[in-house]
Amino acid sequence: DLLSNKIAAGEVVERPASVVKELVENAIDANSTIIEIEVEEAGLSKIRIIDNGDGIEESDVLMAFRRHATSKIKNEKDLFRIRTLGFRGEALPSIASVSRLELKTSTGEEGTRLVLAGGHLEVHEKASARKGTDIQITDLFYNTPARLKYMKTVHTELGNITDIVNRLALSHPEVSFRLVHNDRKLLHTNGNGDVRQVLASIYGLNIVKKMIPIQASSLDFTISGWLAYPEITRASRNYITTMVNGRFIKNYPLVKAIQEGYHTLLPIGRFPIVMINIEMDPILVDVNVHPSKMEVRFSKEAELNQLVAQTIKEAFHTKEL
Ligand code: ADP
Ligand code: MG
Repeated sequence: DLLSNKIAAGEVVERPASVVKELVENAIDANSTIIEIEVEEAGLSKIRIIDNGDGIEESDVLMAFRRHATSKIKNEKDLFRIRTLGFRGEALPSIASVSRLELKTSTGEEGTRLVLAGGHLEVHEKASARKGTDIQITDLFYNTPARLKYMKTVHTELGNITDIVNRLALSHPEVSFRLVHNDRKLLHTNGNGDVRQVLASIYGLNIVKKMIPIQASSLDFTISGWLAYPEITRASRNYITTMVNGRFIKNYPLVKAIQEGYHTLLPIGRFPIVMINIEMDPILVDVNVHPSKMEVRFSKEAELNQLVAQTIKEAFHTKEL
Protein backbone atom coordinates (compact mmCIF):
# COMPACT_ATOMS: atom_id res chain seq x y z
CA ASP A 1 0.00 0.00 0.00
CA LEU A 2 2.86 2.36 0.82
CA LEU A 3 4.42 1.46 -2.50
CA SER A 4 1.26 2.22 -4.48
CA ASN A 5 0.96 5.54 -2.63
CA LYS A 6 4.50 6.33 -3.69
CA ILE A 7 3.72 5.43 -7.28
CA ALA A 8 0.58 7.59 -7.21
CA ALA A 9 2.70 10.37 -5.74
CA GLY A 10 4.70 10.39 -8.97
CA GLU A 11 1.55 11.52 -10.75
CA VAL A 12 -0.13 13.70 -8.15
CA VAL A 13 2.88 15.42 -6.62
CA GLU A 14 5.29 16.25 -9.34
CA ARG A 15 6.77 19.27 -7.62
CA PRO A 16 6.29 21.54 -4.59
CA ALA A 17 3.67 23.57 -6.45
CA SER A 18 1.49 20.47 -6.88
CA VAL A 19 1.61 19.89 -3.12
CA VAL A 20 0.58 23.49 -2.51
CA LYS A 21 -2.25 23.14 -5.03
CA GLU A 22 -3.65 19.95 -3.50
CA LEU A 23 -3.45 21.22 0.07
CA VAL A 24 -4.93 24.63 -0.68
CA GLU A 25 -7.74 22.99 -2.65
CA ASN A 26 -8.47 20.81 0.37
CA ALA A 27 -8.62 23.93 2.54
CA ILE A 28 -11.02 25.59 0.07
CA ASP A 29 -13.18 22.46 -0.03
CA ALA A 30 -13.36 22.56 3.77
CA ASN A 31 -15.10 25.98 3.58
CA SER A 32 -12.14 27.95 4.87
CA THR A 33 -12.36 31.73 4.68
CA ILE A 34 -8.73 32.33 5.62
CA ILE A 35 -5.85 30.29 4.20
CA GLU A 36 -2.23 30.92 5.10
CA ILE A 37 0.55 29.37 3.07
CA GLU A 38 4.10 29.42 4.41
CA VAL A 39 6.84 28.11 2.21
CA GLU A 40 10.58 27.73 2.67
CA GLU A 41 13.15 27.04 -0.06
CA ALA A 42 10.39 26.97 -2.67
CA GLY A 43 8.61 24.28 -0.72
CA LEU A 44 11.42 21.74 -0.69
CA SER A 45 12.24 22.29 2.95
CA LYS A 46 8.82 23.36 4.19
CA ILE A 47 5.21 23.87 3.09
CA ARG A 48 2.71 24.79 5.76
CA ILE A 49 -0.97 25.47 5.14
CA ILE A 50 -3.15 26.78 7.95
CA ASP A 51 -6.87 27.09 7.38
CA ASN A 52 -9.91 27.97 9.46
CA GLY A 53 -12.15 25.42 7.74
CA ASP A 54 -14.29 22.54 8.96
CA GLY A 55 -11.40 20.40 10.20
CA ILE A 56 -11.38 16.62 10.14
CA GLU A 57 -13.31 14.54 12.65
CA GLU A 58 -11.08 12.40 14.91
CA SER A 59 -12.76 9.25 13.59
CA ASP A 60 -11.99 10.19 9.96
CA VAL A 61 -8.41 11.36 10.27
CA LEU A 62 -6.67 8.07 9.49
CA MET A 63 -9.10 7.42 6.66
CA ALA A 64 -7.97 10.64 4.99
CA PHE A 65 -4.54 9.03 4.48
CA ARG A 66 -5.93 5.99 2.75
CA ARG A 67 -6.00 6.03 -1.02
CA HIS A 68 -9.30 6.64 -2.74
CA ALA A 69 -10.94 7.38 0.56
CA THR A 70 -12.52 10.65 -0.42
CA SER A 71 -15.50 12.38 1.07
CA LYS A 72 -16.00 14.10 -2.28
CA ILE A 73 -16.89 13.13 -5.86
CA LYS A 74 -15.71 9.92 -7.36
CA ASN A 75 -16.24 10.62 -11.04
CA GLU A 76 -14.16 12.92 -13.20
CA LYS A 77 -17.23 13.76 -15.25
CA ASP A 78 -18.75 15.44 -12.21
CA LEU A 79 -15.82 17.77 -11.85
CA PHE A 80 -17.45 20.82 -13.37
CA ARG A 81 -20.85 20.06 -11.93
CA ILE A 82 -19.97 20.30 -8.31
CA ARG A 83 -18.21 22.86 -6.21
CA THR A 84 -15.52 20.87 -4.43
CA LEU A 85 -12.09 20.74 -6.00
CA GLY A 86 -10.81 17.39 -4.73
CA PHE A 87 -12.22 14.17 -6.00
CA ARG A 88 -9.85 11.25 -6.07
CA GLY A 89 -8.75 10.90 -2.49
CA GLU A 90 -5.16 10.60 -3.62
CA ALA A 91 -3.48 13.78 -2.52
CA LEU A 92 -2.94 13.23 1.20
CA PRO A 93 -1.68 9.63 0.99
CA SER A 94 0.54 10.53 -1.98
CA ILE A 95 2.06 13.60 -0.31
CA ALA A 96 2.53 11.74 2.97
CA SER A 97 4.42 8.94 1.21
CA VAL A 98 7.14 11.27 -0.11
CA SER A 99 7.63 13.64 2.83
CA ARG A 100 7.46 14.15 6.57
CA LEU A 101 4.00 15.37 7.39
CA GLU A 102 2.46 16.85 10.51
CA LEU A 103 -1.26 17.43 10.70
CA LYS A 104 -3.21 19.24 13.38
CA THR A 105 -6.91 19.39 12.83
CA SER A 106 -10.03 20.11 14.78
CA THR A 107 -13.73 20.45 14.04
CA GLY A 108 -14.06 22.71 17.07
CA GLU A 109 -14.05 19.87 19.55
CA GLU A 110 -10.83 18.38 20.85
CA GLY A 111 -8.45 18.01 17.92
CA THR A 112 -6.00 15.47 16.57
CA ARG A 113 -2.31 15.58 15.80
CA LEU A 114 -0.63 13.13 13.44
CA VAL A 115 2.96 12.81 12.37
CA LEU A 116 3.91 10.63 9.41
CA ALA A 117 7.28 9.98 7.80
CA GLY A 118 7.36 8.45 4.34
CA GLY A 119 3.75 7.44 4.89
CA HIS A 120 4.44 5.64 8.20
CA LEU A 121 2.37 6.83 11.13
CA GLU A 122 4.67 7.92 13.95
CA VAL A 123 2.44 9.97 16.23
CA HIS A 124 -1.33 9.96 16.73
CA GLU A 125 -2.53 11.98 19.67
CA LYS A 126 -5.13 14.44 20.90
CA ALA A 127 -4.28 18.07 20.36
CA SER A 128 -5.46 21.62 20.96
CA ALA A 129 -8.85 22.73 19.76
CA ARG A 130 -8.58 25.65 17.31
CA LYS A 131 -11.09 24.89 14.57
CA GLY A 132 -9.46 24.19 11.22
CA THR A 133 -6.47 22.39 9.85
CA ASP A 134 -2.76 23.06 10.07
CA ILE A 135 -0.69 20.81 7.83
CA GLN A 136 3.04 20.96 7.49
CA ILE A 137 5.20 19.14 4.96
CA THR A 138 8.94 19.07 5.50
CA ASP A 139 11.69 17.43 3.49
CA LEU A 140 9.58 16.86 0.43
CA PHE A 141 10.95 14.01 -1.73
CA TYR A 142 13.54 13.09 0.92
CA ASN A 143 12.90 9.42 0.22
CA THR A 144 12.65 9.74 -3.57
CA PRO A 145 16.09 11.05 -4.56
CA ALA A 146 15.38 10.66 -8.28
CA ARG A 147 12.44 13.02 -7.98
CA LEU A 148 14.44 15.45 -5.90
CA LYS A 149 17.14 15.63 -8.55
CA TYR A 150 14.54 16.58 -11.10
CA MET A 151 13.67 19.83 -9.26
CA LYS A 152 14.59 23.06 -10.96
CA THR A 153 15.98 26.17 -9.26
CA VAL A 154 14.33 27.78 -6.22
CA HIS A 155 13.37 30.62 -8.56
CA THR A 156 11.48 28.32 -10.96
CA GLU A 157 9.80 26.21 -8.30
CA LEU A 158 8.73 29.31 -6.39
CA GLY A 159 7.38 30.78 -9.63
CA ASN A 160 5.20 27.70 -10.04
CA ILE A 161 3.92 28.07 -6.48
CA THR A 162 3.02 31.75 -6.83
CA ASP A 163 1.36 30.96 -10.13
CA ILE A 164 -0.88 28.33 -8.54
CA VAL A 165 -1.72 30.43 -5.49
CA ASN A 166 -2.50 33.48 -7.64
CA ARG A 167 -4.88 31.45 -9.75
CA LEU A 168 -6.57 29.84 -6.75
CA ALA A 169 -6.96 33.31 -5.23
CA LEU A 170 -8.44 34.64 -8.48
CA SER A 171 -10.97 31.83 -8.64
CA HIS A 172 -11.81 32.28 -4.93
CA PRO A 173 -12.05 36.01 -4.19
CA GLU A 174 -14.26 35.14 -1.20
CA VAL A 175 -11.30 33.52 0.56
CA SER A 176 -8.43 35.45 2.10
CA PHE A 177 -5.07 34.05 0.99
CA ARG A 178 -1.65 34.83 2.41
CA LEU A 179 1.47 33.46 0.80
CA VAL A 180 4.80 33.86 2.56
CA HIS A 181 8.14 32.58 1.25
CA ASN A 182 11.18 32.57 3.56
CA ASP A 183 9.38 35.21 5.70
CA ARG A 184 8.72 37.43 2.69
CA LYS A 185 5.04 38.14 1.98
CA LEU A 186 4.24 37.44 -1.69
CA LEU A 187 0.47 37.71 -1.74
CA HIS A 188 -2.28 38.83 0.56
CA THR A 189 -5.91 39.02 -0.50
CA ASN A 190 -8.65 40.23 1.80
CA GLY A 191 -11.35 37.74 0.86
CA ASN A 192 -14.01 40.39 0.33
CA GLY A 193 -15.34 38.61 -2.76
CA ASP A 194 -14.25 41.24 -5.28
CA VAL A 195 -12.01 39.73 -7.95
CA ARG A 196 -10.57 43.18 -8.68
CA GLN A 197 -9.17 43.26 -5.19
CA VAL A 198 -7.39 39.97 -5.93
CA LEU A 199 -6.11 41.33 -9.24
CA ALA A 200 -4.82 44.39 -7.40
CA SER A 201 -2.99 42.21 -4.88
CA ILE A 202 -1.31 40.30 -7.68
CA TYR A 203 -0.63 42.96 -10.30
CA GLY A 204 -0.83 46.22 -8.41
CA LEU A 205 -3.57 48.78 -7.98
CA ASN A 206 -2.49 50.97 -10.90
CA ILE A 207 -3.04 48.20 -13.39
CA VAL A 208 -6.38 47.21 -11.97
CA LYS A 209 -7.72 50.78 -12.06
CA LYS A 210 -7.39 50.66 -15.81
CA MET A 211 -8.79 47.22 -16.37
CA ILE A 212 -11.46 46.72 -18.99
CA PRO A 213 -14.40 44.43 -18.23
CA ILE A 214 -14.99 41.51 -20.57
CA GLN A 215 -18.55 40.37 -21.09
CA ALA A 216 -20.19 38.25 -23.78
CA SER A 217 -22.52 35.37 -24.25
CA SER A 218 -23.81 32.96 -26.83
CA LEU A 219 -26.33 30.17 -26.54
CA ASP A 220 -23.76 27.87 -24.97
CA PHE A 221 -21.27 30.16 -23.26
CA THR A 222 -21.19 33.15 -20.95
CA ILE A 223 -17.86 34.88 -20.73
CA SER A 224 -16.85 37.38 -18.09
CA GLY A 225 -13.58 38.75 -16.85
CA TRP A 226 -11.04 41.53 -16.99
CA LEU A 227 -8.37 42.72 -19.35
CA ALA A 228 -5.54 45.11 -18.61
CA TYR A 229 -4.04 47.85 -20.74
CA PRO A 230 -0.94 46.56 -22.44
CA GLU A 231 1.13 49.79 -22.10
CA ILE A 232 1.22 49.56 -18.37
CA THR A 233 1.71 45.85 -18.05
CA ARG A 234 4.94 44.00 -17.71
CA ALA A 235 3.04 40.85 -18.40
CA SER A 236 4.13 37.64 -20.01
CA ARG A 237 2.02 34.90 -21.50
CA ASN A 238 1.69 33.63 -17.94
CA TYR A 239 -0.69 36.42 -17.03
CA ILE A 240 -3.56 34.84 -18.89
CA THR A 241 -5.86 33.04 -16.47
CA THR A 242 -8.70 30.89 -17.81
CA MET A 243 -11.50 29.39 -15.78
CA VAL A 244 -14.54 27.28 -16.48
CA ASN A 245 -17.47 27.53 -14.09
CA GLY A 246 -15.17 29.20 -11.58
CA ARG A 247 -12.52 26.51 -11.76
CA PHE A 248 -9.04 27.27 -13.08
CA ILE A 249 -8.30 25.25 -16.25
CA LYS A 250 -5.65 24.87 -18.93
CA ASN A 251 -6.50 24.74 -22.60
CA TYR A 252 -3.97 25.79 -25.19
CA PRO A 253 -6.42 26.55 -28.05
CA LEU A 254 -8.29 28.89 -25.70
CA VAL A 255 -5.11 30.82 -24.90
CA LYS A 256 -4.42 30.97 -28.64
CA ALA A 257 -7.91 32.40 -29.18
CA ILE A 258 -7.27 35.08 -26.56
CA GLN A 259 -4.01 35.95 -28.25
CA GLU A 260 -5.73 36.02 -31.60
CA GLY A 261 -8.12 38.57 -30.13
CA TYR A 262 -5.39 41.06 -29.34
CA HIS A 263 -2.36 40.18 -31.46
CA THR A 264 -3.12 42.60 -34.29
CA LEU A 265 -3.67 45.33 -31.71
CA LEU A 266 -0.49 44.97 -29.72
CA PRO A 267 3.19 45.32 -30.55
CA ILE A 268 4.93 41.97 -30.83
CA GLY A 269 6.13 40.64 -27.50
CA ARG A 270 3.54 42.58 -25.54
CA PHE A 271 1.05 40.59 -23.50
CA PRO A 272 -2.05 41.83 -21.76
CA ILE A 273 -3.27 40.60 -18.40
CA VAL A 274 -6.40 38.60 -19.03
CA MET A 275 -8.64 36.79 -16.63
CA ILE A 276 -11.71 35.10 -18.02
CA ASN A 277 -14.31 32.79 -16.64
CA ILE A 278 -16.55 30.87 -19.01
CA GLU A 279 -19.82 29.53 -17.70
CA MET A 280 -21.07 26.51 -19.63
CA ASP A 281 -22.99 23.27 -19.33
CA PRO A 282 -20.50 20.81 -17.76
CA ILE A 283 -21.37 18.39 -20.53
CA LEU A 284 -19.34 20.56 -22.91
CA VAL A 285 -16.10 20.13 -20.92
CA ASP A 286 -14.00 17.04 -21.11
CA VAL A 287 -11.31 16.53 -18.50
CA ASN A 288 -8.58 15.27 -20.68
CA VAL A 289 -4.94 14.27 -20.08
CA HIS A 290 -4.68 14.48 -16.29
CA PRO A 291 -7.38 15.85 -13.99
CA SER A 292 -5.04 17.30 -11.39
CA LYS A 293 -3.28 19.30 -14.08
CA MET A 294 -6.61 20.75 -15.13
CA GLU A 295 -6.14 20.23 -18.85
CA VAL A 296 -9.54 20.20 -20.54
CA ARG A 297 -11.04 19.86 -23.97
CA PHE A 298 -14.22 21.56 -25.19
CA SER A 299 -16.76 19.87 -27.42
CA LYS A 300 -17.79 23.13 -29.12
CA GLU A 301 -14.25 24.36 -29.37
CA ALA A 302 -14.49 26.28 -32.64
CA GLU A 303 -17.59 28.17 -31.50
CA LEU A 304 -16.05 28.98 -28.13
CA ASN A 305 -12.70 30.11 -29.50
CA GLN A 306 -14.34 32.35 -32.05
CA LEU A 307 -16.49 33.96 -29.37
CA VAL A 308 -13.47 34.47 -27.11
CA ALA A 309 -11.29 36.00 -29.84
CA GLN A 310 -14.11 38.32 -30.90
CA THR A 311 -14.88 39.34 -27.30
CA ILE A 312 -11.26 40.17 -26.51
CA LYS A 313 -10.97 42.19 -29.69
CA GLU A 314 -14.09 44.18 -28.89
CA ALA A 315 -13.04 44.77 -25.30
CA PHE A 316 -9.80 46.31 -26.58
CA HIS A 317 -11.74 48.54 -28.94
CA THR A 318 -13.89 49.92 -26.14
CA LYS A 319 -10.79 51.82 -24.98
CA GLU A 320 -8.50 53.92 -27.11
CA LEU A 321 -5.16 52.23 -27.34
P1 ADP B 1 -9.83 14.51 -1.85
O1 ADP B 1 -9.58 15.98 -1.70
O2 ADP B 1 -9.75 14.07 -3.26
O3 ADP B 1 -11.05 14.03 -1.13
P2 ADP B 1 -7.39 14.24 -0.33
O4 ADP B 1 -6.41 13.13 -0.23
O5 ADP B 1 -6.92 15.53 -0.87
O6 ADP B 1 -8.62 13.71 -1.19
O7 ADP B 1 -8.04 14.47 1.10
C1 ADP B 1 -8.63 13.38 1.77
C2 ADP B 1 -9.73 13.83 2.72
O8 ADP B 1 -9.16 14.51 3.83
C3 ADP B 1 -10.70 14.83 2.11
O9 ADP B 1 -11.75 14.17 1.42
C4 ADP B 1 -11.20 15.58 3.33
O10 ADP B 1 -12.27 14.88 3.91
C5 ADP B 1 -10.02 15.54 4.29
N1 ADP B 1 -9.24 16.80 4.29
C6 ADP B 1 -8.03 17.01 3.69
N2 ADP B 1 -7.58 18.25 3.92
C7 ADP B 1 -8.51 18.88 4.67
C8 ADP B 1 -8.64 20.20 5.25
N3 ADP B 1 -7.70 21.14 5.06
N4 ADP B 1 -9.75 20.47 5.98
C9 ADP B 1 -10.70 19.52 6.17
N5 ADP B 1 -10.64 18.27 5.66
C10 ADP B 1 -9.57 17.94 4.92
MG1 MG C 1 -7.84 16.94 -2.19
